[in-house]
Amino acid sequence: MDRTRYLEILRGLKSNVKTAKNLPDRKRPHQPIMLLIALSNLAQGRPRLQDYSSLEAGYNRLFKTYGLPDRSSHPEQPFRALYKTGLWDIPEWKNLDHGNNGTLRVGQLKQQGIKGGFRQEVHDLLNSDKAVLFKSISMLLDDFFPWILHEDILNELNLENASGGIDLSHDSSQFALYKRRIRDPRFGKKVLQAYRHQCAICKYRLTIGGMGFGLEAAHIKTYCHEGPNRPDNGLALCTLHHKAFDIGAIGLEQSEESYCVLVSPQVQGDQTSMRVLTDYQGHQIARPAQDSLAPNPMYVNWHRGAVFRG
Ligand SMILES: [Zn+2]
Repeated sequence: MDRTRYLEILRGLKSNVKTAKNLPDRKRPHQPIMLLIALSNLAQGRPRLQDYSSLEAGYNRLFKTYGLPDRSSHPEQPFRALYKTGLWDIPEWKNLDHGNNGTLRVGQLKQQGIKGGFRQEVHDLLNSDKAVLFKSISMLLDDFFPWILHEDILNELNLENASGGIDLSHDSSQFALYKRRIRDPRFGKKVLQAYRHQCAICKYRLTIGGMGFGLEAAHIKTYCHEGPNRPDNGLALCTLHHKAFDIGAIGLEQSEESYCVLVSPQVQGDQTSMRVLTDYQGHQIARPAQDSLAPNPMYVNWHRGAVFRG
């Protein structure tokens, strides 16, 4: 398989995967997560085919934090679905019991030690061209996960041990994984101005040499899930509350005048750390300078259903 064809299939994933049940515009992250695990294995020089059980372990670890809010992890689904993309190999495919609706039984996959991984030609392509390997990772992150979580996901994938000695933090090549992806700088500027350069949740505002730091314009409906660059889809948040918002640790609930902060019952930590979130539980967020810039309930409701871990 040549590079162009491979990248076409990967790019097509965004339009081909279904949206999660009852969550409009929230693309199912199952196949991207399985591919990220396989790409990480490949980057670390592991064998092309891995036991389902071992893929499942890596998959579940990522899915619990970066998957869907209801944590319904079913690694056997992407393991099977990827076979149809032409990228994935399951040598025992023909001997498997596919059930009435085409599902694979987890017990069968585990007991029979079924293996899966990239097809040989894809494996060879990725192995011979590390630029394509890292471009794949970058594309999957861009298409399915908000940028603020990219670095955390990369750390989970243990890519610092990747063979080939590619320094992912160094922007010397055509792909810069750590590059902040500001698609529209006007969006950020408008949002920070609307909230008077303060975190809408904790009022954080620090400057050094007159310049603010640690404050960001967050998309309420995330960019990778078709959220627009409009101020009423934005919130000024400090880095920590931005990350908590994008990972679903905090959400918003409509109150009489504005929105109140919700804290996910799934968040765990010691008392001092928890206070960074719980101190604001039930508090109203700041109102923007103009009412027309206030968060649109449509985007807030999307976040509440598709991201917040209630
Ligand atoms: Zn804050």
